[in-house]
Parts: sequence; structure tokens; C-alpha cells
Amino acid sequence: MTTITSVSREARLFDPPEAFAKAARIPNREAYEAMYKRSIEEPDAFWLELASELHWFQRPTQGLDYSNAPHAKWFADGTTNLAYNCLDRHLESARRNKAALIFEGEPGDVRVLTYQQLHREVCLFANVLRRLGVEAGDRVAIYMGMVPEAAIGMLACARIGAIHTVIFGGFAAEAVRDRVNDAQAKVILTQDGAWRRGSVVPLKANVDKALTETPCVRHTVVLRRTMNDIEMEAGRDHDWNDIVKSVDAKCPAPALPAEQPLFILYTSGTTGKPKGVLHTTGGYMVGAYASTKYVFDLKDEDVYWCTADVGWVTGHSYIVYGPLANGATCLMYEGAPNQPDPGRFWDIIERHRVSILYTAPTAIRAFVKWGDHYPLKHDLSSLRLLGTVGEPINPEAWMWYRRMIGAERCPIVDTWWQTETGGMMMTPIPGAIPTKPGSCTVPFFGVRPKVLREDGTEAGPNEGGLLVVERPWPSIMRTVWGDDQRFRDTYYTRFPPRDEEGKSWPIYFTGDGARRDEHGYFWVMGRVDDVVNVAGHRLGTAEVESALVAHRSVAEAAVVGRPDELKGQALVAFVTLKQGEVAGKTLKDALLEHVATEIGKFARPDDIRFTDGLPKTRSGKIMRRLLKEVAAGREVKGDMTTLEDFSVLAKLSKDDE
Ligand code: ATP
Ligand code: MG
Repeated sequence: MTTITSVSREARLFDPPEAFAKAARIPNREAYEAMYKRSIEEPDAFWLELASELHWFQRPTQGLDYSNAPHAKWFADGTTNLAYNCLDRHLESARRNKAALIFEGEPGDVRVLTYQQLHREVCLFANVLRRLGVEAGDRVAIYMGMVPEAAIGMLACARIGAIHTVIFGGFAAEAVRDRVNDAQAKVILTQDGAWRRGSVVPLKANVDKALTETPCVRHTVVLRRTMNDIEMEAGRDHDWNDIVKSVDAKCPAPALPAEQPLFILYTSGTTGKPKGVLHTTGGYMVGAYASTKYVFDLKDEDVYWCTADVGWVTGHSYIVYGPLANGATCLMYEGAPNQPDPGRFWDIIERHRVSILYTAPTAIRAFVKWGDHYPLKHDLSSLRLLGTVGEPINPEAWMWYRRMIGAERCPIVDTWWQTETGGMMMTPIPGAIPTKPGSCTVPFFGVRPKVLREDGTEAGPNEGGLLVVERPWPSIMRTVWGDDQRFRDTYYTRFPPRDEEGKSWPIYFTGDGARRDEHGYFWVMGRVDDVVNVAGHRLGTAEVESALVAHRSVAEAAVVGRPDELKGQALVAFVTLKQGEVAGKTLKDALLEHVATEIGKFARPDDIRFTDGLPKTRSGKIMRRLLKEVAAGREVKGDMTTLEDFSVLAKLSKDDE
């Protein structure tokens, strides 16, 4: 078997709303096609041109340098500074007084930082880092909540050429310890505590625990946020506000090589032990800048809100670097979506007149579960564009998002990309590309995705296969930090390099399954590791789950294979219901029947298990590899450092006994 069977019958198509297209940077399909064509035929010229919209101390003349393949370099003879491009560049115009960050704390406090103010804070903090002995190339760990200082810390590192590694504030001490040691960080930036669902997450106490086993760390800088009691060790731990007072606000941005390492970020850990992805400055900057500009069709008047955490790549590229490089106004929200109630997001949108919302399928499914009355209570008419990222979005969740949040007026950009890719890879351009619910549609500029069969030949229309990307793009990862072999093994050994134009081109394997439909649209079908064998078909998880989510009682579903003596694999579905729905035999039978009619009898699950929650990574992705073990009645093994809530797993395993 070399292909993945597609069972989806999704055929709805939505044109870009006329009013949106008229005002868009890329107003029609022809304009997209022309730009895409140029980006493929003359990638160096195309990207150098986009790069020239940003500030370079030394203008690059080179695009891609692939002499050390599969390690790509971009703009290698240029020098720049990412913090300069996010801040100083805007001080020359009226943007200097524009809100760069609008911060809303979970308790309801609001703080606005203009570009000028943010610039000052970053300069001060860059000097703090220098005072603490941080030099270009040194690593700084940032273990904070969603507060402006997290972005200030990142930008301060970028300014002086230090490498940041942001550790999501929901991680425990052990995960902090492992990442700090892996990166050999000299300094940790943290907080006394972070607000989460009305209570305090004790970040500094977690750092203290980690610090007993992280000899590389010399200093910590601690922001006071929740005012809980903390211990401060003199000489090692510094109060953020105090130490900032002891330095100068002048900090000219140095010219850094384009290939200066920028950050290390660990992947979500959905499929296994997280990989420490390394990104560098110039290519990443241009990729984040260009995708933000075109995919969000960003205008100076927008209030843009990405609900991701800065601890994930989405927060790096689309809260901090991409939007700020574009001079955007970004909203940053500290807390949980259901604090004080599940209407918080809609309340924020109404009060701040948010015009662009970028969130994740897991959040959308939670909103569906909580009920329509929350969004209905609020005025969402300021919204003009919606986006999603992180997992395949079930078509019915997409339709809900379009109807309930977007009032059928806002295009939806379903953006497929990875920590490794640095920026969006496949996505509709909102004024130009008609959308289909559940499809990430077409490639972004310079991206050459293909769906391959196991033998490396290209799959036909609607034939599911392995998703790869040919040729490097500017924001591609440079290596796995400290483990170059893992970089080669994970991404470049699945398919042999291809010889073209007298060169050998390694093929980047994404780990995802996908199909390309008869219109050239891409549909991500789930992880290749999660493909289920039933009745002679190999099924991707996304389509079967989407059939379940299309039932009116279901909020979320995960399907996995369980070893079966007769069939090879039996299909097990874990299902979460909408508020007010009752689990039981009647519903189970109805769901089985529903899948049989939606897909076919062969895909009818052998078992349906109702659950209050699914095991997810801390970035909100369903961890099917753990569910596989539960379904098989085995002890759950494998890397669980990124599991969000152990009790969910414990409960599922217990139900099993
Ligand atoms: P790990 O690599 O450690 O297993 P991860 O792959 O979940 O974790 P991320 O880089 O956070 O780490 O996620 C990237 C993956 O998320 C993609 O490979 C894809 O499976 C999924 N994904 C992201 N956006 C989309 C999307 N729009 N549609 C479908 N899948 C998506
Ligand atoms: Mg991955």
C-alpha cells in the first residue's frame, strides 16, 4: 500500500468577499498566480526584492546559498538587525506614536506600548542583558507568561545577537531544566507568577527548582506580575524593574550577519520527543515579514490579534516578529479564553475593535462546545479576517467559525506550517484565493509542496500521500540544535535528493499526510504516523474525525487504530460532546450510523468512547500516539513531557479497566 485513501466529500467553495478583495493587497487569483510564478522561477530575485523592503546595514546580493545542503543559507552576504526592523525602522514615521502592543491582562488591566515606548524598553533590556554578561551567540531562556516583557526579552536578545529560547509558561520545572540545559542558557527571564484562569502559576518557584540542576545559568531576571512570595538569591536573581533602572536607554542596534542564530524553539511534541529547531535572522525575518503582510493583508489601521502563546512558533512569527516588522498594532492577551467566562475572547474583540483574529482549531472546537450564546452576546463587527493554525480544521468547525464569528463576511485563512518552516507554507491569500472548509488551499510564495507516494513518485489528484517540500525557502530551519544528525534523519532521509538543473536538491519531508484535489488545493490529512489501516484502506485521521465532528452532538473527536486479530487494525474513536449532549448507547449507535453514511460502512468505528477531554500537547494538539496505547489497553509510554493534563490520560486509562 503506498497511498492514503481519501474519503472526504467536502465540496463547498467560498469566493473572497468582493469588498474584501477590492481593498486587498493581492486582489485576485491572477495577481497571486503571477507573483507565485515569479517566486518559483526567480526565487533569488523575488526574495531579494522583498528583503529590500526591510532595513539592511549591508544589502544582500545573494539569495539562497545551498552549497552546504541540506543546510540552507539566505542573504548570506547581508547584515541586518531584526529588532531594528521591528522597532527603529518605524520611529522615522508617524508610526512612532502608533500602538505596537495592546496588552490585556487576565484580571482586566490594559497597557498600551507605542513603537517608541517599546523601542525604549527593548533598548534598556538589551543593555541589561549586556550588563549580565550576555554576548552575541549566548543563549537566554525566556520562561514567562503572555506579558509584554516576554516580547521585550525576545527583541532585546535579537537586538544584541543573543539566541533566545522561549519555554512555554505552562511547562513544569523538569521541562524548563531540560531545555535550559540543552540550550546551555546563561540567563533565564521569568516572572514571580503568571495569571491563569484566576490563579497564579508559580514561574519563579519552578525556575528555582530547575536551577538546582542547571549549572550553566548565571543570572535570572524576574518580572513582578502577580506579587506572590518568591525567593530571590542575591547576586543571581535580579528584579526586572530595578535592574532596568541601572542601565542606559541608548543601545544602537549592531549590524548582524544574516545567518546570525536568532532562536531555538522546541516543537510541540505531538509525535514524539520535541526537536530543538534553530532559526537564523535574515531569512526568518523576510519570511515572517512577507507572510504577515500578504496572508493577513495587513493595513496600518488593523488591530491584529493572534491568540497563540509566545512559547510556540506562532507566537514568535505572528505575535512578535512578523507583525512588528510590518508596523502593526498587535493585541496580546495574558489569560485563558474562559476567564471569567467563555465569552472572554468575544468581549476582547468588541472592546478593542479587533479586525484580524488568528487562532487554533482546538480553541474553535472549545467555543463550539461551550455554545453559541457567548459570541452572540458580543459585537464582532470590527472583524474583517479570520485565521487558523495548528491542526487540520474540521470543515464543520470551519463553517461555525465563518458563520458565528465571521458573520459570513470575513475570509478564513487556514494556514499550514510548522515550527521547522518558520512561517506559513500553504494558505489562502484572502483577497485572491477562494476557500474550501478544511483545505489550506495553495502554496505561499516560494513554496513548492508536493504529495508523494512511498516510492517517491507524485500522487495523482485526490490520492493521499506524503507531504514534502522541494527546495528551501528563506525561513526554513537551519538544524536541530545540538543534534545535526536528527535534523538530517528526520527531514531529509525519507526521500532521496532529486537532480535538477545540474544540482542535487534534498527533499524536505514534513511528517504529514496530504492530498491535492482536482483544483490543485492541498488538504492535510493528519500525521503520517497516525494513519489507520482499516479494511484494506489506509485512512488519515483528519477525515474520519471530521465526519464525527459533523454530527450535531460532537465537539471534538480523535480516531486511532487498535491491533485487531481479524482486521489488522480496528478503528477506535474518542469523542467529546457539546455542552448539554448526553453520552450513551443511543448516541453511540447514531454516530456509528453517521460515519457509515458520511464515509462508508468500512470506516464505521469498532468502538466509540465518550470522554470529557482528549490528551493534548500544551500547544493544544491531540496526542493520538497516547490514545493508541489507551485503545490497545497498553501502558502508555513515550515522551510525555509536553502532555498538558495528565488527569485526562489517567481517566481514559482507568475507564479502560
Ligand atoms: P512534533 O513535531 O514535536 O511532533 P508538532 O508537529 O505538533 O510537534 P508544531 O511545529 O507545533 O509541532 O506543529 C506543526 C504541525 O501542526 C504540522 O506538521 C501539522 O501536522 C499541524 N498543522 C499546523 N497547521 C496546520 C493546518 N493549518 N492544517 C493542518 N495541520 C496543521
Ligand atoms: Mg512536527
